[in-house]
Amino acid sequence: MTWPIIFKDVFTRAAANLTDQVRAAFTWEQARATLDGLPDGGLNIAHEALDRHVAAGHGGQVAIRWLGKDNDRRDLTYAELSADAARFANVLAQHGLAPGARVYALMGRVPELYAAALGTLKAGMTFTPLFAAFGPEPIKARMEIGEGNVLVTTAALYRKKVASWIRDLPSLRLILILDDAPAPEGCVALRPAMAAASDQFETAMTTADDMALIHFTSGTTGRPKGAVHVHGAVIAHAATGRFALDLKPGDIYWCTADPGWVTGTSYGIISPLVNRVTMIVDEAEFDLERWYGILQNEKVQVWYTAPTAIRMLMRAGKKAAQGYDFSHLRFLASVGEPLNPEGVLWGQEVFGHPFHDNWWQTETGGIMIANTADMDIRPGSMGRPLPGIEAGIVAQEGDSLRNCKPGEIGELALRPGWPSLMRAYLHEKARYDKCFVDGWYLSGDLAMQDKDGVFWFVGRADDLIKSSGHLIGPFEVESALIEHEAVAEAAVIGIPDETAGEVVKAYVALNPGFEVSAELERSIRGFARKKLGAAVAPREIVFRKQLPKTRSGKIMRRLLKARELGLPEGDISTLEADEK
Ligand code: ATP
Ligand code: MG
Repeated sequence: MTWPIIFKDVFTRAAANLTDQVRAAFTWEQARATLDGLPDGGLNIAHEALDRHVAAGHGGQVAIRWLGKDNDRRDLTYAELSADAARFANVLAQHGLAPGARVYALMGRVPELYAAALGTLKAGMTFTPLFAAFGPEPIKARMEIGEGNVLVTTAALYRKKVASWIRDLPSLRLILILDDAPAPEGCVALRPAMAAASDQFETAMTTADDMALIHFTSGTTGRPKGAVHVHGAVIAHAATGRFALDLKPGDIYWCTADPGWVTGTSYGIISPLVNRVTMIVDEAEFDLERWYGILQNEKVQVWYTAPTAIRMLMRAGKKAAQGYDFSHLRFLASVGEPLNPEGVLWGQEVFGHPFHDNWWQTETGGIMIANTADMDIRPGSMGRPLPGIEAGIVAQEGDSLRNCKPGEIGELALRPGWPSLMRAYLHEKARYDKCFVDGWYLSGDLAMQDKDGVFWFVGRADDLIKSSGHLIGPFEVESALIEHEAVAEAAVIGIPDETAGEVVKAYVALNPGFEVSAELERSIRGFARKKLGAAVAPREIVFRKQLPKTRSGKIMRRLLKARELGLPEGDISTLEADEK
């Protein structure tokens, strides 16, 4: 078999059987050739996500199955979503906005959010979704940094979080208000405007290098960065959706992330639509029974969620999952934080399939390293680099980088060249340039590679603990703690110590039915010591009802550490309410 045939096979069956041969044969040019493109070498995300499917006769397939908070529901077909995107693009054009304009969305997961995202891209403008639970300050800061021209929001969010400052934003041109009621003064009501607009819009002639999205990072390690992404990213979204999430046309797919975070856009809008699946959009927040109900009643086949949610399900126990029919599930994946081995296996026990952990960042735009469908999962690992991705573990040596040996901890690095790599941090050229050294993109995460080429996450570079000459990754310690029957979640930091340099301190949230006591503390410490050895196990354990997390569900260890050391808390604009 010659390589193009193998390659074609992967794409036409979309069954990601990623043999070494297939991995080696893959090229991004070939991946691009599976898409439509625009005349003269152009490329536009909205065209690939919607219009080409309609042109190919799939307009009647449901693109979005929307589940409202109040149990109302709505199906939007590919043809309907494509028409709504065109209407939204027309509304923007009617107000004098031209390609290059920056459109921000601040709203819950309602169908118009998806029409706005795709309509903006169709019009050749740049889209930035913001998480609706943000306070006024983070919203303002992000619109200022991104020089937003348009804001699409609801009347309630406008009054509560936006009205007091937005008129002072020099770049602002238009405010669109979603609700049916008359829009506040100076704003335009979106629904009547869309209803009056044409459902035909000629897609802007964007190229693969034109700006498409600005995404702010989660702010886990410090001030959020505005990562710039281009239309060419859709090539990666198409391929990685097949390879890492096993998406096949017609699948019922549910990504639980909000589009305010990059996962909710790359894999909650673009990748699923490009791969022509039917995606579930749930307007409501996490709720155990609701989620189990959705998996069962909507017959979800592919499910992409996050460790924080998986740990909440685990906390409620296996009994809570009994009586549901999960037989439609085919593939489970997780991203956002390392997934503890306990969580991987729990998927197998409760859903009949393990969770497939995969790794990527806002900056990489798409999944880079994954436990794929064809692999034997190694619980606790990130898996292997996807086709077209070269990853390495590197360490500083003088002015340059060297490759680490198998088993050696170093920084996780990627060879630039894949299509969804960010093109800039807005207004932060120096911070951006620092990410590229010696022909590598440096991720800021520490990891190691085993002799079989499988990657294992160790921790954020900032979170590594150095104790008596040992390098300790918080993930390893946290995963061991979670195996104790009383522990639901754990966060581990290093605190200064005169003899050891640093010692490990753990913050722990308990499972229901367990009470805080000195005896329990001793029991958990003893358990960890047995698993990890005395040098690595926590010296001290404190109990918390909840751990500080970003709104995208990531534990903010730097905040625990700052509080521990009495240092300033730094940027906490993405922090969810927590207890000190
Ligand atoms: P900031 O860059 O502002 O500090 P952030 O890094 O949390 O925030 P994101 O881009 O949303 O912002 O998250 C990417 C990071 O999340 C990765 O660099 C990694 O640290 C962590 N992460 C994501 N998926 C995984 C995974 N499967 N295993 C381990 N870590 C993961
Ligand atoms: Mg980051």
